[in-house]
Amino acid sequence: MIVMKFGGTSVEDEWAIERVSQIVRPRLPESPVVVVSAMAGVTDSLLSMARAAAAARLQAALKDLRGLRRRHLAVIEALLRKPGPGLADVFKLLDELQDVLRGIAALGELTPRTTDHVLSFGELLSSRIVTAALGARGIAAELVDSRDCIVTDAAHTSAVPLLQPTDERLGARLQPLLLAGKVPVMAGFIAATIDGVSTTLGRGGSDFSAAIIGAALGAKRIEIWTDVEGMMTTDPRLCERARRIEVIGFDEAAEMAYFGAKVLHPATLIPAIRKNIAVYVLNSRQPERPGTCIRARAPRSRTTFRAIAAKTGMRVVNVRSPRRLGANGFLRAVFETLERHGCAADLVSTSEVSVSIALDLVQASSGLVGDLKQLGDVEMEDAKAIICLVGKHIRGQVGVAARVFDTLAAANINVHMISQGASEINIGFVIEERDVPEAVKRLHQRFFEPKHRASGVQVISRKLKRPTSNAPALRAEVG
Ligand code: ADP
Ligand code: ASP
Ligand code: MG
Repeated sequence: MIVMKFGGTSVEDEWAIERVSQIVRPRLPESPVVVVSAMAGVTDSLLSMARAAAAARLQAALKDLRGLRRRHLAVIEALLRKPGPGLADVFKLLDELQDVLRGIAALGELTPRTTDHVLSFGELLSSRIVTAALGARGIAAELVDSRDCIVTDAAHTSAVPLLQPTDERLGARLQPLLLAGKVPVMAGFIAATIDGVSTTLGRGGSDFSAAIIGAALGAKRIEIWTDVEGMMTTDPRLCERARRIEVIGFDEAAEMAYFGAKVLHPATLIPAIRKNIAVYVLNSRQPERPGTCIRARAPRSRTTFRAIAAKTGMRVVNVRSPRRLGANGFLRAVFETLERHGCAADLVSTSEVSVSIALDLVQASSGLVGDLKQLGDVEMEDAKAIICLVGKHIRGQVGVAARVFDTLAAANINVHMISQGASEINIGFVIEERDVPEAVKRLHQRFFEPKHRASGVQVISRKLKRPTSNAPALRAEVG
């Protein structure tokens, strides 16, 4: 079997969902399980409705809900000549959502648990629509409720799946359907605790759902269908010269996802690595294109780095010790505090008396900062970003870091924290968020763009007294 996950833009309207059926059909002999995200923008809009309801702006929330209802009903109308019984659920869900928003407004409070409940509606709606659309096109699609199969802890808004019950339930629920030639359709992103309370796997979590399902069933491959032609040398929205990576190893791709390459949820590769299942990133608007293959072993990159990732919304917390703890005790206390608050430091640099930690702004709660203040003087700087250059073979290459920081210095970009070597496959550093587009563009030009490298090649050619016609053979290629 295979898993095919369609992201928000790949199910955003009737045309996108029509394409989904065209992409699924030729793969029917491979027994696909289809996983879908909410239609593009729906999760954001659900979140803002819930927040509005909690902030005594119920009317604004209900107005947005009417827009959401219209959008879903218009897609149904365009896709299905006669809506079948499965779609009665869509109406029920929309009414239920209205009740939930009223409840939030009455309480004037939005807890993480209620947030997950509200956010689950996006995928609940889209999965029903996709199931009906596939069915109407002669594909034997059957809706499977992800909340019955993916079991997580109760860490609402970024719940962690519990491996054993999840694997068991997925196997028990999906295997018989696949054997019967059915195409199970599941909502990505959402799950439930063992007691059946809705949870979500963190923003962008449908990729993770697909990988969890793929690992549980021993899929032949996992396909992530999205709006770009694969994993690219950097975010194409930041740099128009970004190019598709043909094949990339699990380790490099995981590092990219962790450091902000939104194309994959950071946890996606954990289940894939566990079962050694190749993951393909493909463009649902150009389904015939080859995309990117992520697998255990990849050919060595011909460029120094494989890719550049950028993660914005970072906070740098500097803690200065009053010396009474001594260097060891101080660092231990800082990391214990981070652990207690469930915070992962993305980048750390230390001296004897101080430590700087770059954290996701969402994680750096006031509780954490309050506890760190017990250990020393705390200063915070916001609007920071981490840039991470990923490349498996940078270790042992002399002068790579110098070239990176030279490039930034030439663009007058100030670097706050630097780390190389934690995973031995990346160089990471913190800059101002506003400098990200320029930094990425400059670094991409320096390390990936053939024209830039060609000038370097000509210098070598002159030295060797070879004709410059060698240059094309030495062109930078990605892969
Ligand atoms: P989906 O809704 O299909 O899950 P996402 O918006 O979550 O899609 O992820 C796709 C987006 O990821 C792309 O539109 C692109 O802007 C962004 N992205 C960031 N880094 C990369 C990268 N290295 N390669 C490809 N896309 C990237
Ligand atoms: N719909 C969810 C989100 O927007 C999950 C996903 O699309 O992967 O975060
Ligand atoms: Mg995504």
